Amino acid sequence: MTTIGIIGGGQLGRMLAMSAARLNFRTIVLEPQPDCPAAQVANEQIVAAYDDEKALDALAAACDIVTYEFENVPVAAAERLAQARPVFPPPKALEAAQDRLVEKRFLNDSGIVTARFHAVDSQADLEAALADFDGSGVLKTRRLGYDGKGQRVFRSGQDSPQGAFAALGSVPLILESFVPFEREISIIAARAADGTVACYDPAENVHRNGILHTSTVPAAIGPATAETARVAAKAILDALGYVGVIGVEFFVLADGSLVANEMAPRVHNSGHWTEAACIVSQFDQHIRAVAGLPLGNPVRHSDCVMQNLIGDDIAEVPGWLAKDNVFVHLYGKTEARPGRKMGHITRLT
Ligand code: AMP
Repeated sequence: MTTIGIIGGGQLGRMLAMSAARLNFRTIVLEPQPDCPAAQVANEQIVAAYDDEKALDALAAACDIVTYEFENVPVAAAERLAQARPVFPPPKALEAAQDRLVEKRFLNDSGIVTARFHAVDSQADLEAALADFDGSGVLKTRRLGYDGKGQRVFRSGQDSPQGAFAALGSVPLILESFVPFEREISIIAARAADGTVACYDPAENVHRNGILHTSTVPAAIGPATAETARVAAKAILDALGYVGVIGVEFFVLADGSLVANEMAPRVHNSGHWTEAACIVSQFDQHIRAVAGLPLGNPVRHSDCVMQNLIGDDIAEVPGWLAKDNVFVHLYGKTEARPGRKMGHITRLT
């Protein structure tokens, strides 16, 4: 039986392992946290750091294919594995996604519009960059930011940059121009090794406290906007020679044009709705792609809203279970810390 190695043991790895099992694949999860969400449903777990060379070699020896569930997998680890086994998506997708400056340049080189940006490596850089954007912009750490962490917003004439470089840790930063968006959407797309691309319908995303709250499908966008998102996703996938599922987030402007925000070389929270509203979910699609199976039709059979269950929202589960047309998915996390993703529901509408 073919074995798929999964680097990372969170809920995305858990859902990938469940899809893999349905298609007769075994899974081994590499994750330092014992009894992590993915290990609870996988065949095996290697409990070790992502850059532990002995553990990586053991994973390669035990697997036929390797994939990952988060974008901060050390590139050196992915490359070490890639010398022994196929690693999908390709490690260069990690390089493109781990650093916001590299990511923006890659997107622009692929013909995709992003916010304007400046690299910020000092307080003086920040002040010069803000002056270029009339005092407004969003300052972000280049690496390791997620769910709105490591960010600061500046509004013209209101926010002083004083001390901001040090406050974000004196690490490499990027200042993006402030995008006056009407809504946020994302598209989940897959590419097979033969170059076939399949795109799900774009979802409209609402964030709360920097964390995804809901994804609604269909998004309130016109067909031309949806087509722009599909074209951008395909350009990214082709440029990377990609195999697997990707998530790309965009801002939608008043005229319907799109500004790309970021991409995640993995299954994505804003694609969880595909489990309930499509025959082939993003998790099934990813496993099909990395295993060399034909991609499924990404067609959507229902309109829906996916809602994350964050922290204490887990207490709402009995209420959701009592409703019709609600798909409930919990992640096996015992402690409901504030801001922690405990599960999600998808309500067919
Ligand atoms: P990110 O971590 O890049 O996904 O940013 C988190 C959230 O901050 C986004 O979902 C937006 O709501 C907001 N945001 C990020 N970048 C910008 C920008 N350049 N202009 C306006 N809003 C932004």
